[in-house]
Amino acid sequence: MNNYTLAINDGVEVDLIYVKAMERWGRDAQIVKAAEEMAELSAVLLKYVNTDEKQRSSLVEHIREEMVDVEIMLEQLGLVFGDNYDEYLFKLWRLSRRLGIKAGLDGEDDGEG
Ligand SMILES: [Mg+2]
Repeated sequence: MNNYTLAINDGVEVDLIYVKAMERWGRDAQIVKAAEEMAELSAVLLKYVNTDEKQRSSLVEHIREEMVDVEIMLEQLGLVFGDNYDEYLFKLWRLSRRLGIKAGLDGEDDGEG
């Protein structure tokens, strides 16, 4: 694998890349692209679990690539549908509870003193 570096470390400028992508190809095209990338990740994940244990390592790099594709598209979906960080925190908190991990959530009153 190549070791690329991106000379943009400022979050605002990374957002600019997503804004420019949205301007270049359009909102609906980027929504479709997001769905396509998710389908690609789904396909390779299903292939992984349906592949003999000895052959699975050959799919790991492909999985990582598709994970990145999806992450990039999720960032662009955030531009279209808005910030979902509160939902992310809530669902992570809920998962932690299901796992018996006591995690705090700002504003939460868990009834314990
Ligand atoms: Mg892809």
